[in-house]
Order: sequence, then C-alpha cells, then structure tokens
Amino acid sequence: MNYADIKTVDIQDGTGVRVSIYVSGCHFHCKGCHNKEAWDFNYGKKFDENTIDYIIDLLKPSYIAGLSILGGEPLELVNQQGLLPLVKKVKEVYPDKNIWCYTGYDFEKDVYGKMYKEYSYTKEFLEGIDIMVDGEFVEEKKLVDLKFRGSTNQRKIDVQASLKTGSIVQLKFGDESRYEKEEIKNPKIIFFKEFEDKKEKQDDIASENISIPVASQENENIISIVPAFEIQETQERIAAEGLENKDDNNL
Ligand code: SF4
Repeated sequence: MNYADIKTVDIQDGTGVRVSIYVSGCHFHCKGCHNKEAWDFNYGKKFDENTIDYIIDLLKPSYIAGLSILGGEPLELVNQQGLLPLVKKVKEVYPDKNIWCYTGYDFEKDVYGKMYKEYSYTKEFLEGIDIMVDGEFVEEKKLVDLKFRGSTNQRKIDVQASLKTGSIVQLKFGDESRYEKEEIKNPKIIFFKEFEDKKEKQDDIASENISIPVASQENENIISIVPAFEIQETQERIAAEGLENKDDNNL
C-alpha cells in the first residue's frame, strides 16, 4: 500500500486536533475530487512499519484527539489490509483516542452489507474505527458549511454503535439540522456512550468535551449524535419546533 500524505495537524477531518493519513488508490473518481493524484495506487510513498511508528509518535501529544484516515480510498481491499496494523496499533497504544475513516463506499450496502460479512480483515478494521464518513463526493450536493464532509449525501456514522445495534447510527452536527430536518423529528437527548463516565455531571453538558446522541422518542433508537458545542443550536431547534423532552436523561 502507498500513501499520498500525512498531515501532522488537521482540524478539518474530524473532531478536535488530529493527525491524518491520505492513502493512495481510489476507483471512484468522483467529479470535483480534491485528491485526484491519490487515485493512482502507486502514487506517493510506501506505507510500512516506519510509517506506523511515525504516526504513533505524532499521536502522542494529549491535545491530539485522534487519527483520521482518508484517501484515495481507505476501504479498497488492499488498503484495508495495509491499514489494519496501523488501526490496531493506534487502539492498543491510545485506547482513548478516536479514529475517523472517510470512504466513498455506502456503509449499509458495501461496508456492513458486503465487506464486513465477507472479509475477516474488514471486521477487524471496523472494530478499530470510531466514526466513518461514507458515500462518494457529489459535487452537485457540495455545500460550504458542512462539517467534516464534502456533500450532503455523506454521513458521519458511529461505527461501533451501528455494529452493536445492527442499524445505522449517525453523528450529527448543526449542518444536518439545517439540511435534514425531517430526520430529527421528536428527538430526545441522551448521553453518548463515549462519555458515559460523565453521566452524573449534568452541569458539564455545555462542555465542548461532551457529545450527545439524539434518539427517536417513539422507538428509543438512537438516530444521531450531537456534540455538546452544538447542543445550543439543537436546543433552539427543539424549542422552535415546539417539541417536549420528558425523559429523565433529557436536557
Ligand atoms: S472517494 Fe474520495 S478520493 Fe475517491 S474520488 Fe471520491 S472524493 Fe476522491
């Protein structure tokens, strides 16, 4: 596997300050792609043990929230196999740091529906991924105020929650509330599993260190997760829509 670039400080491709790796090779060839040079599987440098050690070292500072994996296409089979030792090592050395992965594949159809069931390394790979941003970049659906995604068709998916529940769990920010209002009718607010140890600290809810999932009031299924620094906007929207939250966990 080759990689096109490593960014030592990245604040665009996931929450917090991150380290990012752009792998080489992508067959999607989306119109308007910003990383065309990385379509070629032979582009860039060889990814090897030294690359893994370098990334592990870059992740060391406490202000680094985690690793983002982009492309090219990280889920091309050859790239999944190449990246697996990196994902495992990051989770082993930094269990509290998260990993975001960007893919042009559709999560339900291609990733969970096919690769996860057919390839043991996909299962292992997904076990190490916290958030996956899925779907091809669609230039006609590009908007400038989208968070951590390029076009409105792309979704930020909580991979572990999705695997656990068997249905898609999305991480949602203000951009979804602006463009996908239909999906978040009757929301209730509960705590994101990542921050369960802070459940008692209701006062901390406004802290930017807490994320909060939004679940359907009708069937209890979590349908989205809202980071706390966006919660004000969520509350305002709930109020504007005249929705009442009666659950004990609600804000
Ligand atoms: S999937 Fe990503 S890297 Fe591949 S062509 Fe589309 S935008 Fe570019």
